[in-house]
Amino acid sequence: MNMRKKVIAGNWKMNKLLGEAVQFVEDTKDKVASKDKVESVVCAPFPYLPTLVEKTKGTNLEIAAQNMHFEESGAFTGEVSPSMLADIGVTYVVLGHSERREMFDDTDGVVNKKAKAAFAHHLTPIICVGETLDQREANETKSVVETQVKAALEGLSEDQVKESIIAYEPIWAIGTGKTATSEQANEVCTHIREVVADAVSAAVADAVRIQYGGSVKPANVDELLAQSDIDGALVGGASLEADSFLQLVEAGS
Ligand code: PEP
Repeated sequence: MNMRKKVIAGNWKMNKLLGEAVQFVEDTKDKVASKDKVESVVCAPFPYLPTLVEKTKGTNLEIAAQNMHFEESGAFTGEVSPSMLADIGVTYVVLGHSERREMFDDTDGVVNKKAKAAFAHHLTPIICVGETLDQREANETKSVVETQVKAALEGLSEDQVKESIIAYEPIWAIGTGKTATSEQANEVCTHIREVVADAVSAAVADAVRIQYGGSVKPANVDELLAQSDIDGALVGGASLEADSFLQLVEAGS
């Protein structure tokens, strides 16, 4: 058993209205396990962040953004900066989710700039990587993920890499109900740890947290979290209901 604390992050994507978001945090904020046992994070849409940060102050539930721009300020209509997130008390930010890579041009270079910007504002980045079904079938999973991880972490200090959270999310398993088997998931997470060891150091690789994401739910989370190199989960669909999110957090604690 390693010493890495598990991180359970619920990614709501573009779901919920404000009342539903508030109800969710009211239902969960006093029930999630303490921060020294597990990190419990809700990644909410931008308009709800200030309210949810206020409502969860002093609790064990952390609030994350699902994206941000890398620039500080300026002529970027429709964008949100790292300093804006830090200013309202957001503590984590999801970067390079496959939906953003596919639909919003979040390239490896952009993800790297965003990771640097996150650390400049004391935000913990949850950096997403993962292969498409075609890439898996062409036996390219490890090389694709290696390229994404190296690019995302380039130029970060050892401490910053250690504090980063990497989410391995095979694209074919996101929102499809197809979970990678725990062995498949662990094999890639082990590879990511080796990539970090090679790029930075063995000590940093041993400390960095690597989540699995892709159709995680209460029924499969225990088996996934029992794997040697899986340190948590990034969860979409099964994080939308308070009960289900609480079960996932419980599994991580
Ligand atoms: C995700 O949103 O990152 C995700 C893994 O979604 P789901 O759990 O619904 O597959």
